[in-house]
Amino acid sequence: MTIYVIGHKNPDTDSVCAAIAVADLKSKLGDASNRHDPAGPNAVACMQGELSPETKFVLEKFNVDKPEILKEGAGKDLILVDHSEISQSVDNLGEAEIVGIVDHHKLGDVTTSSPVDILIRSVGSTCTIVKSLYDYYKKKIPKKIAGIMFCAVLSDTVIFKSATTTNEDKRVAKELAKIAGVGNIKELGMEMFRVKSAVEGVSAKELVLRDYKDFDMNGKRIGIGQLELVDFLAIENIRGELYEEIRKLKDEGRHSVLLLLTDIMKEGSELLYVSDDSSIIEGVFGKSSKEKGVWLEGVMSRKKQVVPELEKVFS
Ligand code: MG
Ligand code: MG
Ligand code: MG
Repeated sequence: MTIYVIGHKNPDTDSVCAAIAVADLKSKLGDASNRHDPAGPNAVACMQGELSPETKFVLEKFNVDKPEILKEGAGKDLILVDHSEISQSVDNLGEAEIVGIVDHHKLGDVTTSSPVDILIRSVGSTCTIVKSLYDYYKKKIPKKIAGIMFCAVLSDTVIFKSATTTNEDKRVAKELAKIAGVGNIKELGMEMFRVKSAVEGVSAKELVLRDYKDFDMNGKRIGIGQLELVDFLAIENIRGELYEEIRKLKDEGRHSVLLLLTDIMKEGSELLYVSDDSSIIEGVFGKSSKEKGVWLEGVMSRKKQVVPELEKVFS
């Protein structure tokens, strides 16, 4: 039997690296963890789309093969990583068998027909949780997988600056860096974010969709994209194009589309938005602006500082 380990749509570094690591661990657990098949599962890491430049950099840095692409869930056994929302998962999830979830977001709307192994914790990255699973099962983390997991922790916590960062993330990152032989934690983090910030030659549409998620909020489809940048100069000239792209996304039947332009050095985000009811968005953030974005000081986390506030007003 094959188990497919898969992260969310528009795969980011955490969802890709967590899929690779969970597939590695699951394959190592063999018989003991698998009640259906005494031969043990063959776990395969997958992703729902192409690698982002940041993730490509990370996999190349540690010489790890990229996962295969999987967009269709029907008839498959799945472990979901880094998400538990139907809107962010593979097509026809209802016809798949979810056998596990490892995640660090709010509990989503998936359901299962059989008992399932779930570990959801409020830490800064899925890979932090995967590290605790390797430890729990007393399995060694291969050096190169430790390297990509380390990068995933840095990526999701924005080098420990994000409000989602916990002490466990910092401790785990140090342990992973040691296994991977990474000397300078911050240096590799900045190198990664410079790759992430390179927007030259990339279309506005691609930038908006690079780290974009749809949410179902009480029947309303809300899209939220995020671009994490080491400096804003790169996007100074394309704000209008970015705005145009989120407007197009909204016209595809969404209630609102938001784009967070996060300045990881200044530790805040500029918010661009288009909405059927702008007053809702403005009420949430206490600021309004039509064309230019509004600056949200200290806001760096979509999951912790944006989604919960929107959920409240849409519930
Ligand atoms: Mg993610
Ligand atoms: Mg994550
Ligand atoms: Mg992120």
